[in-house]
Amino acid sequence: MFEHVVIGFGVRAALAGHARSRPGEETGGILIGHPDGATLRVTRASPPGPNALHRRFRFSRDTRYLQRYLDEVVDRTDAQEDYVGEWHVHPALDTLPSCVDRRSLWRIARRTNYATDSPVLVIVEESPPERRVRAYGFEVHPRRVWSELPVTYQSAAAGSAENGES
Ligand SMILES: [Zn+2]
Repeated sequence: MFEHVVIGFGVRAALAGHARSRPGEETGGILIGHPDGATLRVTRASPPGPNALHRRFRFSRDTRYLQRYLDEVVDRTDAQEDYVGEWHVHPALDTLPSCVDRRSLWRIARRTNYATDSPVLVIVEESPPERRVRAYGFEVHPRRVWSELPVTYQSAAAGSAENGES
């Protein structure tokens, strides 16, 4: 389990933009980054994709779009950057990972076709004018666990070389 999540400057801006673009609805996508010891560095957040479904309390992602997005980043970075988890916007404060969210992240942790055994779910709690960004780690070995992880942001200056487009 990671101990800490660092969110890149460009990722923070991208998540804020996605949250604003779907007021009152759930939205989401995938996170790309790399481990750095016990720290997970998130360097990109994908868009939801054109065929994602958005509802007040439900979101289903555009899997084909996300797979293409991921393949493209992995190719372009020589696999230095890969899939690290998911992001969701929940249109309320204090909305922990739902039952469906937890099952889905544990499934990702278990499956070998994802690049990580310790996926992270970043939840943007969007309730204008308030916005909170929280992160949760998931693992299935030796048993299914999840816990909230502290989040810090990379400053624009420190991250300029690393920030991808969103
Ligand atoms: Zn969710």
